[in-house]
Amino acid sequence: MEAIQARRDGDRRIGRRALLVGGAVAAVATGVLARDELGHLWWRIPGVSKPRKEGDVDYAGARWVAASPANWRMADRPDDYDVDRVVIHVTQGGYASAVKVFRDPAHGAAAHYIVRKDGRVTQLIRELDVAFHAGNREYNERSVGIEHEGFVERPEDFTDAMYAASARLTAGICARYGIPVDREHIIGHVEVPGTDHTDPGKGWDWKKYLRLVEAASASPATSTV
Ligand SMILES: [Zn+2]
Repeated sequence: MEAIQARRDGDRRIGRRALLVGGAVAAVATGVLARDELGHLWWRIPGVSKPRKEGDVDYAGARWVAASPANWRMADRPDDYDVDRVVIHVTQGGYASAVKVFRDPAHGAAAHYIVRKDGRVTQLIRELDVAFHAGNREYNERSVGIEHEGFVERPEDFTDAMYAASARLTAGICARYGIPVDREHIIGHVEVPGTDHTDPGKGWDWKKYLRLVEAASASPATSTV
């Protein structure tokens, strides 16, 4: 009889304590959300998020291949984060292996686009969303990442078709978000603060690339993309 009574008291105490702890956890969580994340979570409210359809692309002519959701974070850019950078990458491998790792949830990283040597553009993550490509949270949130098939040590991988296609893609991104076409806003992964990556490497012809982006920005074809 005594034992049963003790257990009941114990249960009651535990129950009350659990309630208090639960309330405190909820309050802390709310505070954290209000401070850091609420502005970035409003897309969760039904009817607020922009329409999304599987297979939609942001760049006309891009082929859609979905990256693993583990390699990006849903967002609602540019409403929740300003987009003011394009980050240029090199895959250090072939197109197929890049697609494979970006579709692998264990990889932990992926870019919005991959441009192949033949100029074919594949989109793997919507520009609305934050791709894990720069190795820097702030830069992931503010940028669109473009991978280029090839190796930094082999500039011959960067074909004219690749430069031209990538420049059209970047011109479209700059036009969509009002990003200036210059080296302050179109940067290499190597220029992201805190990175230990070297891509696109010394072999990437920035002068040529910027000239092509400027030309594509000036052409009426870009504005319809
Ligand atoms: Zn990179």
